[in-house]
Amino acid sequence: MANGSGVVHGYPHLDTVRAAITALYRRLTPEGLYAYDVSVAPADVSFADDDDLHLGAQRVAHALVRQLRLPDARMIVGFRGMTHAASVELAAGPEYFVELNDRFRTHRRDIGAALAHEITHVLLHRLGLGFPGTRDNEILTDTVTTYLGAGWLLLDAYREDGVTSQKLGYLTPEEFGYVLAKRALAFGEDPSPWFTSPRAYTAYTDGRDVALHDGRQPPLTAAGWAGRHRYAKDRRQAREHPGAATGLPYAFEGGGPDGLRVSFPCPTCHQRIRVPVRGRVRARCGLCRTVLECDT
Ligand SMILES: [Zn+2]
Ligand SMILES: [Zn+2]
Repeated sequence: MANGSGVVHGYPHLDTVRAAITALYRRLTPEGLYAYDVSVAPADVSFADDDDLHLGAQRVAHALVRQLRLPDARMIVGFRGMTHAASVELAAGPEYFVELNDRFRTHRRDIGAALAHEITHVLLHRLGLGFPGTRDNEILTDTVTTYLGAGWLLLDAYREDGVTSQKLGYLTPEEFGYVLAKRALAFGEDPSPWFTSPRAYTAYTDGRDVALHDGRQPPLTAAGWAGRHRYAKDRRQAREHPGAATGLPYAFEGGGPDGLRVSFPCPTCHQRIRVPVRGRVRARCGLCRTVLECDT
């Protein structure tokens, strides 16, 4: 896990984040994901500066192992001087050695965040789920940590004032907010009360706006007037010049005797859904099974 310096904002990794959510649904299935419907509680991962360093780290690691459904895994947490914030040795288990940067000895409240990311590496290793390339694999790790209910800690470790800034993980604060909001929408959870960092809360509300926007894209009936208007224009264009439009969230295919079809990403899991263009259609996502009201 990298140390935060020069905090990047916005959504530069959004495509990979969305691909990570799809990959997680494929690997765990919706039933498997229900096991993660409650996030780790703040009380179980809180770490005061007068808590014993090693006992406290073991306690928090144990809470995160439980949260991530790794019943037989045992984390052995150590501290040493290193350039990274933390690392984990991905061995056969059941024991895993997690190393945290020495600075956490005096920044104990962020130990939970660092451990959440490293223990998710263990989970992904066991699931055999990975993305090629370090950058994408780290984005997958942060996305999965967050979607499975332990990543609000990583966002809450983001603090910035005029002089100093701190951030853990590879996603921007807003991207953490986005994944957290996707999770909140899928599981009916409200993470707002857990934030201790005001900057993190702002990033959450920013990301939540983008997550809500996913659910208001045409051909979903929740799309706004402007979106519907553009959609109608693109549909007319697709009928007249098939295969012309690109760069849109939806794509028209076919035509001829079988009729036109439209494909678009599921707002929950981002798997592409295909429906015939024939007015009001109710579609069920084949991956996450969300029922979607569409006006095609
Ligand atoms: Zn990592
Ligand atoms: Zn879906």
